[in-house]
Amino acid sequence: MKTISNLKIQENLARVFKGRIRQNEALSQHTYMKIGGPVDLFLNPEDIADLKAAVEFLNQAAIPWVIIGKGSNLLVSDQHLPIAAIELSSAFFQELSRQNNVVYAAAGVSLASFINFNKSQGLAGSEFLAGIPGSIGGAVFMNAGARNLNSAGLEKLCSVFDIVSQVQVMDKAGELSIISKKDIEFSYRSCGLDDQIVIAAWFELEPGAEVKIDLDIQAFLDNKIKTQELGLPNAGCIFKNPSIIKISAGALIEQANLKGLAIGDAAVSLIHANFIVNKGKASFAQVKSLISQIQVIVENKFSVYLEPEVKIWDREGFK
Ligand SMILES: Cc1cc2nc3c(=O)[nH]c(=O)nc-3n(C[C@H](O)[C@H](O)[C@H](O)COP(=O)(O)OP(=O)(O)OC[C@H]3O[C@@H](n4cnc5c(N)ncnc54)[C@H](O)[C@@H]3O)c2cc1C
Repeated sequence: MKTISNLKIQENLARVFKGRIRQNEALSQHTYMKIGGPVDLFLNPEDIADLKAAVEFLNQAAIPWVIIGKGSNLLVSDQHLPIAAIELSSAFFQELSRQNNVVYAAAGVSLASFINFNKSQGLAGSEFLAGIPGSIGGAVFMNAGARNLNSAGLEKLCSVFDIVSQVQVMDKAGELSIISKKDIEFSYRSCGLDDQIVIAAWFELEPGAEVKIDLDIQAFLDNKIKTQELGLPNAGCIFKNPSIIKISAGALIEQANLKGLAIGDAAVSLIHANFIVNKGKASFAQVKSLISQIQVIVENKFSVYLEPEVKIWDREGFK
């Protein structure tokens, strides 16, 4: 695979693009897993017009591109990738505002800032996102969520789908639109908008007391501290929970006695069996092999195929 022939492209891009351009940026610096090789271009558009300019330029130059959020759900090849990664992190993509009970959040806002803003506004409903380390763009794209106890004390799966009302997107050709929830095919860890860039979203929340909201956020955070791997680099849950049985992917991996199984520095977490940790210098190949090994063992033992939740970016694709 060729490197994007640099200088000319850079010069031409700089004529139409106002934001920051980095070359040969290692994605290991932008992923929670701390794994990822260099991409030819790493772009931070200043605003929507700048994003459109970048997308149009890259399309015309036939340079493949991807959108990267906070990198908390990514496993990226450590080989060079001849692509552009676009990160929506400039001030423009940090807007948070409120009208009545509806909160507007731009793609680059962190979930922590979103939750804190809602708390300060006395708006309840987003507390279940506490402790999920992503951006609004990534959370909408992934339909991020968590288990919650409802008022009757029953466990319920909450996700972005429950609170979002509409999403502003840009398609791959650079066209903008606003899509309402009823037209979005949300499902478990997907919003079905695979060909769209999430620019911002509106969330319908409910008035609530700040003290109660804070207590609920704390309860979610405490639960994460108890049950999730926070010490070593990881990408959250590696596999989706299977739909055909009512046992979580983590429970299946644990029942197969795979906690601690390691290939090089990639290991199944001792705390949460659905997490793979990077104990130091884990390579992409080691994590991928560990994923395959877990899939084979679990399938042989329980006849359940574990589908990856983590997005895997390599020269074969960006899935
Ligand atoms: C310790 C830990 C705990 C976690 N716990 C949970 C949990 O409880 N529940 C849960 O659901 N997830 C969890 N995750 C996974 C992850 O945090 C979420 O999936 C999060 O929503 C990803 O957001 P991100 O900004 O990091 O996206 P990234 O990881 O950067 O990207 C993920 C995908 O979203 C796409 N994307 C990102 N931004 C945009 C955009 N603006 N437009 C279009 N596509 C975009 C990317 O192209 C990629 O395909 C956890 C991760 C870690 C490391």
